[in-house]
Amino acid sequence: MSSTTPFSELAKLGPPAADEIEVCLFGPSFGESALIHIGDGRWLVVDSCAYAGVDGPIALHYLDQHGIDASAIETVLITHWHDDHCRGASKLVASTPRAKVWIAQTLTNTELLRFAFRMNTNKTAIAGSKLTEFIQIMKEIAERKKRGETTFGFAIQNHPLHYVNGSQLAHGASVKFTALSPSHGDHLDFLERIGDLFPRTKLPKRALGGPSPNEISVASILEIGPESILLGADLENTKAGSGWDAVLKANRSNRFGSPAKIYKIPHHGSLTAHNTSVWSDMLASDPFAILTPWRKGRGRLPNDEGIKKITKLSKQSFSTSRHPDGRPKTRSPAVQSYLRSNNIQLRNLKAPAGFVRMRKKPGADWNVELFEPACHLASMLRRRTRSPA
Ligand SMILES: [Zn+2]
Repeated sequence: MSSTTPFSELAKLGPPAADEIEVCLFGPSFGESALIHIGDGRWLVVDSCAYAGVDGPIALHYLDQHGIDASAIETVLITHWHDDHCRGASKLVASTPRAKVWIAQTLTNTELLRFAFRMNTNKTAIAGSKLTEFIQIMKEIAERKKRGETTFGFAIQNHPLHYVNGSQLAHGASVKFTALSPSHGDHLDFLERIGDLFPRTKLPKRALGGPSPNEISVASILEIGPESILLGADLENTKAGSGWDAVLKANRSNRFGSPAKIYKIPHHGSLTAHNTSVWSDMLASDPFAILTPWRKGRGRLPNDEGIKKITKLSKQSFSTSRHPDGRPKTRSPAVQSYLRSNNIQLRNLKAPAGFVRMRKKPGADWNVELFEPACHLASMLRRRTRSPA
């Protein structure tokens, strides 16, 4: 790799130790990818995104900077088919032929149509150029199936995505990765809506309804011994018995792991994904909250209201990047003292886009590193308010 790549200095800092858990959240203001070291050089990836100046998916680039081969990735989960979560995903999947690939069992109508059309006719896809990654990955999965392989799967609530017995890992803790969504109710909705796709005689033509990709995105929980990490994907609050409400209901009848100390905030901190019951029922008090911001045209997430809701519930909340017109880099003395007293290290790699890295050795606390312009979430507020300290 060229020394001008944004993360070329990473190698100096070294990869995690065999008994160390590592969570990297990448997000360059449009895109999200989580790379997790579960121990002993074994990794999981959730979603894929690209950084300017970096060739290919950022997760592969990060591993490459440490001299780690893509074969170290054991599971890839693509939570949904929005561009900001699946850019480079087909390359990621093609580079990890032995990794298990998970996608949501529930599709949107557009995805279903494109899948059926492409698989049956092998013709150019319909409905524009979006979802190319989806078609490429479905083709890869179909090829694996033809070869008699079972290295792919369709995720739905409660489905196990990955398991490693603690006896195989230096830290000794078992690893259990479970899908929290889409719920079975949301999947049933999808099956009912498929009927809308068929032309019917003597009945008024109905517009294609169907779930949005966010409604059926795959939120998940990763348990490593007593540690739980809640990965919120882009799951939103939709209606009763759907989205986060369905996750909470399922959690009440059969708990998904211990309260999580790390929360990958869903849907870039949007108000539509914020759910106080998730915080009270599924998270430890004052957990680490990490998010990727989202910006497209004039749209941006999170907004000030979203930031305030999160920072009220978590003093330790971080963003992988900041909005370009966010506050300048100078930090108030209170923020500086907060970062110092919480042992949070700032890394300036002269990178155009940052990320958040969290590492934990057995028996130790989580150590947070912010690779600039990753920042404390409170410093993204457009209007100055109280500092996080
Ligand atoms: Zn998104």
